[in-house]
Amino acid sequence: MNNAYSINTRCVQAGYTPGNGEPRQIPIIQSTTFKYDTSEDMGKLFDLEATGYFYSRLQNPTCDTVAAKICNLEGGSAAMLTSSGQAANFFALFNICEAGDHIVASSSIYGGTFNLIAVTMAKMGIEATFVSPDASEEELSAAFKENTRAMFGETIANPALTVLDIEKFAKVAHAHGVPLIVDNTFPTPVNCRPIEWGADIVTHSTTKYMDGHGAAVGGAIIDSGKFDWIAHKDKFPGLTAPDESYHGLIYAEKFGKEGAFITKAVVQLMRDLGCVQSPQSAFMLNLGLESLHVRMARHVENGQAVAEFLESQPQVVSVNYPGLKSNKYNSLAQKYLPKGGCGVVSFELKGGRKAAETFMKNLKLAAIETHVADARTCCLNPATSTHRQLTEEQLTEAGIPAGLVRMSCGLEDKKDLINDLKQALEAI
Ligand SMILES: *Cc1c(COP(=O)(O)O)cnc(C)c1O
Repeated sequence: MNNAYSINTRCVQAGYTPGNGEPRQIPIIQSTTFKYDTSEDMGKLFDLEATGYFYSRLQNPTCDTVAAKICNLEGGSAAMLTSSGQAANFFALFNICEAGDHIVASSSIYGGTFNLIAVTMAKMGIEATFVSPDASEEELSAAFKENTRAMFGETIANPALTVLDIEKFAKVAHAHGVPLIVDNTFPTPVNCRPIEWGADIVTHSTTKYMDGHGAAVGGAIIDSGKFDWIAHKDKFPGLTAPDESYHGLIYAEKFGKEGAFITKAVVQLMRDLGCVQSPQSAFMLNLGLESLHVRMARHVENGQAVAEFLESQPQVVSVNYPGLKSNKYNSLAQKYLPKGGCGVVSFELKGGRKAAETFMKNLKLAAIETHVADARTCCLNPATSTHRQLTEEQLTEAGIPAGLVRMSCGLEDKKDLINDLKQALEAI
């Protein structure tokens, strides 16, 4: 669909245009395999000489339709779905890094991604240096090595809610001849499109706002098609040297800047690792995407209202929400997220763990969940859940006060949410 249409229209209609008499809603192609008349027809697919489907571990029409919508929303050249956000970030990095290579990543990222990079990819021989998202260009540059192959950050970090200076990160990455990969899960393309600010590859946990209903785990990778792999030939042999598993084909030559990255990730990584999204999940994801623009505006409205309310309460030590004037990242938020960021707010209650427990027990609308970013408001106290193995001292060291509550504002009426908060605060 034409990019001249507003993002709102593209959320509803991009990716799929039915022909005369065809289904209005995207068909779920629930088939592992696809039929061909001759071995020659099929052979062409295996040689990547023709495009088409032969096995749903590599490609499936329903998944591709939804990937095409997400590609359009992010302004990319090619995209793919994965089984989860974890798989999306792993594939995006592993598509260009191998044993002996190095990654520069923001230290302010999702815990699962931090583990993936710092522990699991380290076991695969891929090293990483973590940098503060607030570091200067000089400090960021100092983290780069001869063998650095990618830079990584999150537009709005989960759960720290730091806002990434995408232009700064992109400038440093490009000065070192490597792409910037940005996880855009929290703002979604409705609120920020990292490619417009210089990011080369964008990833998503579609499990969050994109699905939006807490229904299906999934991920996506979008390539901008702008990074010139051949200009940095020696750094990226996976894209610029022959792949013997496809008769010596060179991805960057055969598929160009626009297609090489995603084609390799599909026909090599997905072929070998198989982290596919099911067509059923992709169908549900598309239902979520059709209302993404409407929902994000409400999530932001509720997040802003809840953050402003909490900031004025005596039981609250501090509130962390980039949309607040008092927030350290407010100027970056105004630049990169003019329509607002997301519905996730974190705040510290006076009285630590005990106050947080009492407060959360008394909430009637917000359920206690580890999840964030769906239609129903939910909350979590890291000190008694995800970080419960840490002592008070370790919590302070990690920058997670015992009284910290993370609240993901859903789509309920903000007046009801605030009244619920009010009575729970009074119960402390
Ligand atoms: C949840 C999340 C992930 C991981 O996604 P899954 O779908 O749970 O695998 C990655 N990045 C961010 C920013 C997330 O919030």
